[in-house]
Amino acid sequence: MSLPEVLAGIRAAEAAAGRPAGSARLVAVTKGQDLDAIDRCVLAHGAFPLGEGRAQELRDKSALRPDLEWHFIGALQRNKVKYLRHVTLVHSVEAAWQAEALAQAAQGWGHAPDVLLQLHNGEAQKHGIEAQALPGVLREVRATGLDVRGLMVMAPDLDDLPPPEREARLAALFTDVARRAHDLGLSELSMGMSGDYPHAVAAGATLVRVGRSLFT
Ligand SMILES: *Cc1c(COP(=O)(O)O)cnc(C)c1O
Repeated sequence: MSLPEVLAGIRAAEAAAGRPAGSARLVAVTKGQDLDAIDRCVLAHGAFPLGEGRAQELRDKSALRPDLEWHFIGALQRNKVKYLRHVTLVHSVEAAWQAEALAQAAQGWGHAPDVLLQLHNGEAQKHGIEAQALPGVLREVRATGLDVRGLMVMAPDLDDLPPPEREARLAALFTDVARRAHDLGLSELSMGMSGDYPHAVAAGATLVRVGRSLFT
């Protein structure tokens, strides 16, 4: 696959869901890729936001190319928040202390990233906010002054399930997250990766985080 093929897949999923073309935006996940590969496989096709999951790697790349649109999609550690200066959107806030650390760093930067709250996906996975804690965390994160734009979720690995069951589980998860965002008045929905983005777009994803498929 390549970026144009992924984009075509996103456009097809939008059309099938009766959504306007372009309402789901591709975030090119570039972790582990050097800037040459990013230029060749991503930026040669247009100006896409770049999603990085490791703070040091993000720091090093974004220092060389601060002009690009950088998103952070990984686990946020207190001592590494300082590396996120060039980030405009953090997809992966899962605790109020992370937002507080970001807001504090942002004072030194003179600009603050917007954030999404990462939801737990109901599987044996340690990351993400439990559904019942979401309204409280949302309140606390807003109190830091950061702009909470939406929700993010990472679907569990369901590759061992028979396809119909896998698709039903993905649809249920993505639809549930979309409903929670809607109920909270949040407009951005970051969901969908290489293996499941058509289901995420069908459920209303506005940001689709695809990595592997862009570089193979
Ligand atoms: C790596 C990663 C992706 C992209 O996954 P691919 O399977 O490479 O498309 C998306 N979201 C997060 C949080 C990731 O860490």
